[in-house]
Amino acid sequence: MIKETKVIRVIGNLNLRNGEANMEATKELFTHIELENGMYAITAPMGEQCYVILGEEKALIFDNGMGFGGLKSYVEKITDLPLVMVTSHGHPDHAGGNGEFDQVYMHSADRETFEEMCTVAYRLGDVEKINADLVEGMRAITVPYVGNFTAIDQMQTIDLGKRSLDIIHTPGHTRGSICLYDKLSRTLFAGDMLNEQTWMYLDYSTDIQTYYDSLRSIYVKNWDIQWIQTGHSNARICEKRLQDMIGCAQEILEGKGKEQEKEMTTFAGKGMWHGFGDGGILYNPARIRENNDEILG
Ligand SMILES: [Zn+2]
Ligand SMILES: [Zn+2]
Repeated sequence: MIKETKVIRVIGNLNLRNGEANMEATKELFTHIELENGMYAITAPMGEQCYVILGEEKALIFDNGMGFGGLKSYVEKITDLPLVMVTSHGHPDHAGGNGEFDQVYMHSADRETFEEMCTVAYRLGDVEKINADLVEGMRAITVPYVGNFTAIDQMQTIDLGKRSLDIIHTPGHTRGSICLYDKLSRTLFAGDMLNEQTWMYLDYSTDIQTYYDSLRSIYVKNWDIQWIQTGHSNARICEKRLQDMIGCAQEILEGKGKEQEKEMTTFAGKGMWHGFGDGGILYNPARIRENNDEILG
């Protein structure tokens, strides 16, 4: 989900006049930096983060933002390889642009989240909550909602030609959240699972126990992780973030560190903030352990 602080960037960079934007103009609304080894971090108009990873035969896009403007044509300026579109989870700021692509891979455990939250009305509703002045400008450049996606559930890897990414299902932030691991650059692409402020208090989040189990399942893979790329920043984060989040979730499960917790309200509602290391988890104290067996398969 989008942090309110990102609004400053939107206003500063977009300069959208209500209703006057068009798809052509929005190409400039995206920016990108080159990471290394054929990887790019693209920042979309609302501050959402998307990634492009190049193989020899195909290029993978991980997340497509809220679906304002033409991400696809922007990526086509970076590479002319055939594109494979994968979304980390079904939230509107990651899968909102699905409608621009013929085929999108997503975990089916996020079907409900996606169908409810990625419609045009819902996405514009999110913009309105953040800054009502932007709604009309965004409406003019909105990628339509297309409800279809291809389930990634049974896939273990994605081969891009001399570069293969591992897929891991990591329910937590949402039931269908996935992460990708790129061995070549030793990078974990974590979507919203390892944000500095990881939101676990949302309607479609799992309980903390499930999130903890997912973090542990990444950890026990013993992947050589040099960098973590997250869903709302192009910063390269070191592996400590994973350890911090495991520690944070563990404290919540054990009821430790409650004295430092505080209530926090965002545009998505109220949660309890539990900090740990350089980050923390915003969670719902009523949802620490539940029976979530059905989503773990
Ligand atoms: Zn997000
Ligand atoms: Zn999210």
